[in-house]
Amino acid sequence: MKALVYHGPGKKSWEEMPKPSIQLPTDAIVRIYKTTICGTDLHILKGDTPEVTDGRILGHEGVGVIEEVGGGVTSFKKGDHVLISCITSCGKCEYCKKGMYSHCENGGWILGHLIDGTQAEYVRIPFADNSLYRIPEGSDEEALVMLSDILPTGFECGVLNGQVKPGDTVAIVGSGPIGLAALLTAQFYSPAEIIMIDLDDNRLNIAKTFGATQTINSRNTNAVEKVMSLTGNKGADTVIEAVGTPVTFELCEALVAPGGRIANIGVHGKSVDLHMEKLWSHNITITTRLVDTVTTPMLLKTVRSKKLDPQQLITHRFKLSDIDKAYDTFQHADREKALKVILTNE
Ligand SMILES: [Zn+2]
Ligand SMILES: [Zn+2]
Repeated sequence: MKALVYHGPGKKSWEEMPKPSIQLPTDAIVRIYKTTICGTDLHILKGDTPEVTDGRILGHEGVGVIEEVGGGVTSFKKGDHVLISCITSCGKCEYCKKGMYSHCENGGWILGHLIDGTQAEYVRIPFADNSLYRIPEGSDEEALVMLSDILPTGFECGVLNGQVKPGDTVAIVGSGPIGLAALLTAQFYSPAEIIMIDLDDNRLNIAKTFGATQTINSRNTNAVEKVMSLTGNKGADTVIEAVGTPVTFELCEALVAPGGRIANIGVHGKSVDLHMEKLWSHNITITTRLVDTVTTPMLLKTVRSKKLDPQQLITHRFKLSDIDKAYDTFQHADREKALKVILTNE
């Protein structure tokens, strides 16, 4: 089979690899139908994730059809259409029992990281019973690729941890796919205002069509002054960090209202300053989280009932064999006006 293989920082190639086979009775082999590229894949290619070794197939999102299951898999059979979760969970360890699948002692985020991933014609999924979700017949399978990672991430790490409530003011720093996923799912709770902050006007315009009530380009507007003027000098009840840099996190500290929450989603590579000289008395909460994908079954229902339309996040489509072109588009997302790209294995 063909797959996108990582060969050290800056190097990848679409090349022939052995087709995966069942290694444990709890495994399933899935023939990939559609997959995508994540910001995390770009981090890996930059060399930010040294645990990813030369020869690893990248990718942790996708939908497909079960090709084969091990003898211990009871929920799925050959031919079933499935959504692959970016998080692999054994369902048995202490963390899985608490619903913290991201910290599963036998799984967690391993796909396209510590084991071969989904940017391939076939993928082996360990603990298939817990790590795959059945796709209801008649679903828009392409849209469901957004449920492998970005929608549960925006929802769990941003909206749930940020405790968005009816009537709240929510500020989201970062209007990329993850920030937009938080914007879409925050609306389950009817906040009064959702303010999106980014440096890219195109992404802010998209945010408006996704339900943002205010947008701020922090390249030419002082975001703190603007949010304070919009909120009667209080700040935002929930501030969601969807970038992962010291500057954006410190912006969140300046935007949060007394009693508010800062919910971090961004992947941080550097330490940030925590302004306790101001925040110590402000009754705020700061949360961090790696997505657990525990809300995936719920999100599937909201997509089915059209309360959530993930299709809006897809801007570009390629054949899986044109994955180099797709990476080029995604790496130049500003220039290409790209959010999520879909790769189809025909
Ligand atoms: Zn991802
Ligand atoms: Zn586990």
